[in-house]
Amino acid sequence: MGVLYIVAVPIGNLGDITLRAIEILKSVDCIACEDTRNTKVLLNKYDIHTKLTDCHKFNEKEKSGKILKLLENGGKVALVSDAGTPGICDPGSTLGEEILKDGHQIVPVPGACAVSAFLSALPRANEFYTFVGFLPRTKSQREEIFSKFCGVNCVFYESPNRLMSTLEDISDYFGQNRKISVGRELTKVFEEIKTGTVGEIINYYENNTLKGEIVCMIYADEKRNSDDIELEKDIKTLKKQNFSDKDISKILSALKGVSKNKVYNLSLKLQQKDI
Ligand code: SAM
Repeated sequence: MGVLYIVAVPIGNLGDITLRAIEILKSVDCIACEDTRNTKVLLNKYDIHTKLTDCHKFNEKEKSGKILKLLENGGKVALVSDAGTPGICDPGSTLGEEILKDGHQIVPVPGACAVSAFLSALPRANEFYTFVGFLPRTKSQREEIFSKFCGVNCVFYESPNRLMSTLEDISDYFGQNRKISVGRELTKVFEEIKTGTVGEIINYYENNTLKGEIVCMIYADEKRNSDDIELEKDIKTLKKQNFSDKDISKILSALKGVSKNKVYNLSLKLQQKDI
């Protein structure tokens, strides 16, 4: 049976590749990569002369057949992506499924990944986190993710063009004091990791360069769960319509089955400036 090696490559700094990854890239029959031009830069640096074939999200199905043929006679193929670990927000799943179906082996060759590099540099109270890949495009879809995962540290990838609108959505949903971190251009010359309240980070990027590759984390707020956040949203809606704190507590306690006191205290805490 053949072997498909899933080989992690650097996320910026070309030095971030393991000795084992180099050996495997040199020894396999073929390297399947997203973009041959990108991968050639890495191969040239490490004097690797293995044949390349492109395998990206638009041809993964068709290429899977060709790669399976290579594996049939005990061949060895390496899969790499443009950056980091294949299969982490990169193509690889379709190929992987076909390969396992045919009884070949899949061997991970670990290394750089933007999520793990970022998390390794962030002091955290505990190990819990969820990684959601790229956030969906619409505000309501993003809010669905926020509500699902607000109890744990939530890590996601983002593009520089969308970061500001994402930060605004985070601020609208969680309030401007929610703690977040933004990692930009990790392992590269202009590497930057900023941590602060979402309000502070918005302010920072209004006055500083916002280019390059980005990974973010919204810190868990153990004191406020998703039910509380939903409750706050409902209170804000009623406050906008000039309901009194007392009426709000009566209405929401009846509708949601939470205590009148809890709603009342939350309603008192939400000042006009928060609405
Ligand atoms: N497979 C990759 C990995 O292991 O991290 C991720 C591929 S995904 C298509 C590319 C996204 O990862 C970028 O748009 C960015 O959000 C994030 N990313 C990749 N390299 C990064 C870096 N050096 N610094 C910050 N984020 C990075």
